[in-house]
Parts: sequence; C-alpha cells; structure tokens
Amino acid sequence: MTTSRAPFDLDATYARDVPALSLPWQAVPAPDPRLLVLNEELAAELGADPDLLREPAGVALLTGTGLPDGMTTTALVYAGHQWGVYKPRLGDGRALLLGEVVDTRGRRRDLHLKGTGPTPYSRGYDGMAAVGPMLREYLMGETMHALGIPTTRALAVVATGVEITRDRPLPGAVLARVAGSHLRVGTVQYAAGLDDPAVLQALVAHAIARHHPDASDALELFSHVVDAQASLVARWMLVGFVHGVMSTDNTTLSGETIDFGPCAFMDAVDPATVFSSLDTKGRYAYGSQPAILRWNLARLGESLGLGEAADDVLADYPRTYERHWNAGMAAKLGLSTPDPVLAADLMELLHAQGVDFTTFFRALAAGTARDLFLDRRAFDAWAARREARLPADRAAVAAGMDRVNPLYIPRNHVTDAALGAAEQGDLAPFRALLAAVREPFTGRRGLERLTLPGPAGAAHVTYCGT
Ligand code: AMP
Ligand code: MG
Repeated sequence: MTTSRAPFDLDATYARDVPALSLPWQAVPAPDPRLLVLNEELAAELGADPDLLREPAGVALLTGTGLPDGMTTTALVYAGHQWGVYKPRLGDGRALLLGEVVDTRGRRRDLHLKGTGPTPYSRGYDGMAAVGPMLREYLMGETMHALGIPTTRALAVVATGVEITRDRPLPGAVLARVAGSHLRVGTVQYAAGLDDPAVLQALVAHAIARHHPDASDALELFSHVVDAQASLVARWMLVGFVHGVMSTDNTTLSGETIDFGPCAFMDAVDPATVFSSLDTKGRYAYGSQPAILRWNLARLGESLGLGEAADDVLADYPRTYERHWNAGMAAKLGLSTPDPVLAADLMELLHAQGVDFTTFFRALAAGTARDLFLDRRAFDAWAARREARLPADRAAVAAGMDRVNPLYIPRNHVTDAALGAAEQGDLAPFRALLAAVREPFTGRRGLERLTLPGPAGAAHVTYCGT
C-alpha cells in the first residue's frame, strides 16, 4: 500500500550524519490496525492533517507499514547501564524511527514507533508492545507536558490486531511518539565503545547542532546536558514523579523525559517509593533520582573522554540541582525567594506524617493543610515559619501556588482501572482521565475522585511496563 498524500515530510539527518548508529529495518505487519487514540494537538504541531492520519494509509504509517515510496524505517543502536550493569549493545529492540519532522515552530523532532516487531537489537525478546502499557506511556507523556516538564509525547496508539504473550495473552499495539531526539547517554556510550573515533565525533556534532547549538565542543555539550538533566530531575521531584528505570539508555541528551515504563506519581511522601517490581534495592526510588542522575552523567563524561574536566562540571551538579529544586519549592510554597531549610523541613515532616504529596500543596493554598497531619502542632510550627515569609497579598499567593501545584495527576488506582477497561475495549475511562490530567491545575466538578490517593495499603507495582 502506498500513500498518495503523505501526512509528514520526513527527513533522516541522523542516519546521514552518523550512519553507524542506525540500521534500516522493517516493521512487522499489523493485520487489523485500529487507531485507539490520536493526539490532534500534537499532530497539528507537527504540521500534519489529523484526518490524513485517521485514513487507512495514515493508520498504516503509524504502525510503520505501508511506507511512502523511498522511505525507510531504522532501528537505532545504543548501549547502557541497566541497574548499574553495562550492556554494550541494547538499541531499539522493539522500536523503529520513522523519520524526523520539522514542526510548525521550526524544531526538528523524531517520530518513533514502539512495538513494531523484533530487530537485530531485540536480545531474544519479542519486539512487541501491549495496548495497556502503550496507553500508559501516552497518558504519562501528556501529563508531563501539561505540567510543563520536558518530555517525549505520544502522537497515537494503534491496536495492531496481533495477540502478544506476556504473563497472559494481550492485545498488541504500536505507539507513535515524538521526541526532540532519541539521543541517549547510552548512545554516546555505544559510540565510545567503537574502534572508530570519527563516529563519536560525528555524534557529538549532531547532538550539539540539534540540542545545544551554542556549545562549541564536547565539554560544553556535557555542561549543557548536565544542566538540562538536573533541571529535568528537579521538576520530576517537584511533582513526585518516579521514573522507575533511570538507566543510562533512558537518560536523554535533550533533557526530555523518555521511556515511561514502571513510572508513577508518589502518594504519601517517602523517599524510598518505588513502583517497579524489579527495584528491590531502591536504586531508582523517588529519593535516589538526583544521585542516580549524577551517576549517569558521570558515565556520559567518561564516554565523551572528558577526564577531570567532567569531574569539575559534576562537582557543581549538587548546587545546580538544589538551585532548581529550591526555586521550584519556593513557587510551590508561595514564597518569593527560596528557603532551602523550610523546604527540607517540610519534606521531612510530610514523610514523618505520611502526607499525600500532591494533596498537600493544594490544601496549603486553600488553608486546609492542617487537617492532613496527625501531629498538628508539628505542622503549626512549620506553618508559622512559612507564614512569616509570605508576601502580603495572600489571595495572589494562593492563586500563584495553584498555577504550579497540580490538582489532577494520574493516580495509580485510577490509571490501572482506566487501562484495564481499555484492554477490554472500553476507552471511555482512559479518555476521561486524559482530559483531566491535560488540564491539571484547574478544578472542575465531577473530578473529585481523581484528587484522592488510592486505598491505603494498596501498594502499586507495575511490571516494567512491557
Ligand atoms: P526499556 O526498559 O523499555 O527502556 O527497554 C530496555 C531495552 O530493552 C531497550 O533496548 C528496548 O528496546 C528493549 N526491549 C524492551 N522490551 C522489549 C521487547 N518486548 N522486545 C524487544 N526488545 C525489548
Ligand atoms: Mg529504554
């Protein structure tokens, strides 16, 4: 099948600039493709006509089949430290790059498909993805975007009509996602492991041109990535987001959130919060994320061959991270200037009292936070210190807080129920949840259920999201 009017003009600068890091590869057929969700806002941003994407040829394209003449999909290769263990060759084991699109604002963005069948990088896995986890990635990306956090975003999820095997048979799907690029710390690790230094040089040049054009060499690129990632992880921490698998292959050079697997938002504050059944030691727990990022960035510095110069940059990382965190906390608390001690004491108090992270900040603005604490005197003491620092116009303070503290996040129990229904063919709960988290700061009637933490004791665990 050949499309006459292609929905996108696709380019392939990465394949041209660094040919050693991708491989032409084809998607497996999708026998009965059905478009489950299409991100019309994102399609428009890419300059694509949503109606074309809904046509059979458009849906086929979103599964990586029925490509226009002359177009090729490619599997990208990269390495990475997973759970601290170096894997010299990971790569797109179940994904393909469809191409690059220059969006309506002139930004070059990758259009990438996940769940397109095995590739030479599949390492014995099946190359497939299931409807539930792909809708989950869609939901999480839109949530992050609505929260103003840099992220890859899903364009569409297409059910393929293939039944895939996990712990039980599941409906298969392909996720189409858009990213600033798919350059990862692991991509640099892979290039550094090759015999040919020209590959690493070409990769660095491509990464600079694409993401940090004012950098003039690998060291400046490194500094930019450190800052972008420090800012990113601080933003995750400020909304209670736990990525779940912060391996070096899931750490981008762009500073965007990528690869939503066993990720979730923390309910009651606890630095040890994990959502992955595999993370028994808490390597990627909520409170470990800033330190793990630093570890990942150290691997990037090594792969770039920066030696001590990288250590010097990383020596500033704690301050950079703290600066982002404290500025964000000031906004969350309604303060005009950061108060690191007040913020740190709050986190300890919320942890000690098991207070729901998201609920707290809205309640603080509304003047009802005291009710969330068992030890109210401890809260009162902290609140008096904050009170003394607040600007005079309290109504403006509360309004400002409500612009940065979300009311609606994808609560785990609600998300699980919505994905369960979607797997059975009922997408209505998923669409309702998506609509809620897309406008996370504005309270609406009928959504109260979404503001409540899950039933106490119902530990939420996802199984690697595959
Ligand atoms: P992730 O944990 O999802 O970031 O994946 C880590 C690596 O495993 C990536 O290289 C993926 O492409 C690969 N991978 C994950 N699931 C599958 C699968 N079902 N089939 C093939 N490769 C996979
Ligand atoms: Mg990954």
